Amino acid sequence: GFRCGIVGLPNVGKSTLFNALTETAAAQAANYPFCTIEPNVGRVAVPDARLDRIREIAASAQEIETQIEFVDIAGLVRGASKGEGLGNQFLANIREVDAIVHVLRCFEEGDVTHVEGRVDPIADADTVETELMLADLDSLERRVPNLVKKAQQGDKEAKVEASVLGQALDLLRESKPARLTQPKDVEEEKALQRAQLLTAKPVLYVCNVDEGDAASGNALSARVEDKAKAEGAVAVVISAAIEAEIATLPEEERDAFLSDLGLEETGLNRMINAAYQLLGLITFYTAGPKESRAWTVRKGAKAPEAAGEIHSDFERGFIRAETIGYDDFITCGGESGARDAGKLRSEGKEYVVKDGDVMLFRFNV
Ligand code: GDP
Repeated sequence: GFRCGIVGLPNVGKSTLFNALTETAAAQAANYPFCTIEPNVGRVAVPDARLDRIREIAASAQEIETQIEFVDIAGLVRGASKGEGLGNQFLANIREVDAIVHVLRCFEEGDVTHVEGRVDPIADADTVETELMLADLDSLERRVPNLVKKAQQGDKEAKVEASVLGQALDLLRESKPARLTQPKDVEEEKALQRAQLLTAKPVLYVCNVDEGDAASGNALSARVEDKAKAEGAVAVVISAAIEAEIATLPEEERDAFLSDLGLEETGLNRMINAAYQLLGLITFYTAGPKESRAWTVRKGAKAPEAAGEIHSDFERGFIRAETIGYDDFITCGGESGARDAGKLRSEGKEYVVKDGDVMLFRFNV
């Protein structure tokens, strides 16, 4: 599965948020046969308006959203890159995630102690980012010279890595994150991904505000939103305390609770959707009388790989994929309408899956 790591300084609201996520996941669990979750890993459904429409049209008995995982990665303090606190463990955990959800304390009120004795989300973000940059810098200072040596000896792969990681190292030396690296081609892009640099991962900032500020944010969250915009990143405003409360409410009471606060949907839903966007993935669908279901593949995946998401037999015995674009599926009123209108395409092994495709796989067993 695809994983987002929840990071941030102590006492910013990470566990509160993570617990709200797992409560939500527990409420959803009925739909999922495989909901084994480690203590600090929660797997949640991705809310999906397109899936709702597909299900209506296909008149499916149930709908099953695609899922992503969140990992609560505690233990970041100043000096983590030098092994302070749970430093090394923290960095190892973060290396394994596909994206970072960075929680920032934007609530003033209360007697909650701030680790650094003042509420300043921009300074907090810098503290965290600095630790991550130092860790990347440290690892590249050791790796790049070896790669350069190998490249000079004619190793082609090392040449690609030396070029792209050399660029990342130059950025880090200027205190810039590795995500600003511009790979020259697909090979370099892959090499950069393989390197699993902490500051190359996409980031979502989550501004944790007080209950009263949940609908419109506050001056602190506005500063984070400006920072995010300047970095080409995304920020969402959320009140972890409210989310924790909502998660414990029975479903039928949630809407009334939300509208009392001036909210249209839960902050968690917005956060989950933003995190899913951040991962840069593609959603395809299957639709039948039993269920309509959303599935996830990486961008650029071909039809057999998509089939493999459902079952490895589908990939091994792949023959073709009967495919309808999402818009065609909706406009034509479903599969048979699309077939009649000539909008159902028979796609082969080389077909690159498009976001929103409704697919039916034909395969040999
Ligand atoms: P973590 O160390 O980042 O995991 O932070 P926690 O989730 O344990 O939260 C630290 C403290 O801040 C707890 O006492 C929470 O109840 C409190 N807290 C979390 N979110 C909010 C919030 O939105 N408003 C206020 N006033 N307190 C909060």
